[in-house]
Amino acid sequence: MSQFDDKQYQLETLALRTGHTRSFEGEHAEPIFLTSSFVYANAAEAAAKFSGQEDGNIYSRFTNPTVATFEKRIAALEGADRAVATGSGMAAIMSIVMTFLKAGDHVLCSRSVFGSTVALFEKYVSKFGIDVEFVDLTDVGAWEAAIRPETKLLFVESPSNPLGDVADIRALSDLAHRHAALLAVDNTICTPILQKPLSLGADLVVYSATKFIDGQGRTLGGVVLGNQQLMEELHVYVRTSGPSLSPFNAWVLLKGLETLKLRMREHSANAQKLAEWLQKHPKVKQVYYPGLTDHPSHAMAVQQQQGFSGIVSFEVVGEREQAWTVIDKTQFISITGNLGDAKTTITHPATTTHGKLSPEAKEKVGISEGLIRISVGLEDIDDIICDLARGLDLI
Ligand SMILES: *Cc1c(COP(=O)(O)O)cnc(C)c1O
Repeated sequence: MSQFDDKQYQLETLALRTGHTRSFEGEHAEPIFLTSSFVYANAAEAAAKFSGQEDGNIYSRFTNPTVATFEKRIAALEGADRAVATGSGMAAIMSIVMTFLKAGDHVLCSRSVFGSTVALFEKYVSKFGIDVEFVDLTDVGAWEAAIRPETKLLFVESPSNPLGDVADIRALSDLAHRHAALLAVDNTICTPILQKPLSLGADLVVYSATKFIDGQGRTLGGVVLGNQQLMEELHVYVRTSGPSLSPFNAWVLLKGLETLKLRMREHSANAQKLAEWLQKHPKVKQVYYPGLTDHPSHAMAVQQQQGFSGIVSFEVVGEREQAWTVIDKTQFISITGNLGDAKTTITHPATTTHGKLSPEAKEKVGISEGLIRISVGLEDIDDIICDLARGLDLI
């Protein structure tokens, strides 16, 4: 078989074929290289590899062939020069901080980001003299007003979780570049199938691969993507400090990539149907899904995304008690904080994912006691609707 040339092929083909160099065993599925280190034919080869004169694997904290297959495959899907994988999404975000920031720098972060991202910035990053400020995701003017000479990073999660607000990535990247800052986008909710932030001007894309990329709730993983130079710097940090992805988890994730497009299409279709059904239910006060034409971010989402993904949130008529009834009356929907799984999951953000926020902070990001978040899975949509109707019809 001749060499596989990425440039010739479409996304669907890349998702299945990129990154695997078949070994002399002729395996069809990608092998898992569960090895911590690699051996050399002789001392001279070892010396050449350690000095960097010769390419090759040394130690799995640095590089590993299964991890490299995952990195090449997701880079091809994203249209990025290079990807660097990490052990979790949080490790990926931390790697961006450690690689590109130093004491005295300032970070602007969208307000409604993942809870651990807020905690990481507020509790740990700030300890090292890096100032972090949170801004309204959709208000470009507020970002501009908050920029300082020391601002080195704009960090955005779009669409936001759980309410689906969408940032103008092009406008924020222009703003970042006018001030010599980097724009990093947490694209976990959309994946490269539905949104490509680099093509909108972002410098870095970051994923919790734990979510839709694995897509079957099995393993943790993360990845950062960007141009060759930025990724080279980030890889040096990862290989030195060790938040490296395990080869086994890399294998699980690269198998996830093979079906990512099919799954994202189906998650989006099911979510759209659920959102439209919820809108008509008399016990539902408000539905938040960017695929709905009356969502405030609908136009922006249509402009920069190729789909709306699988996260639907809604407010029931009532408070915590009514929301908990809807959750507790489900028969198969999983009560869990995770999202992006083939199985539908249900969460009460005010008492779980956003439970640590103060009442004022909750109000600021729109997390009410009546709010429920669904990560719409791949079960039959009528069954999902039926499972939610059990509680909704009672309250
Ligand atoms: C889950 C999640 C993270 C953190 O990823 P882990 O793999 O759990 O470390 C970061 N950002 C978003 C948007 C997430 O949903």
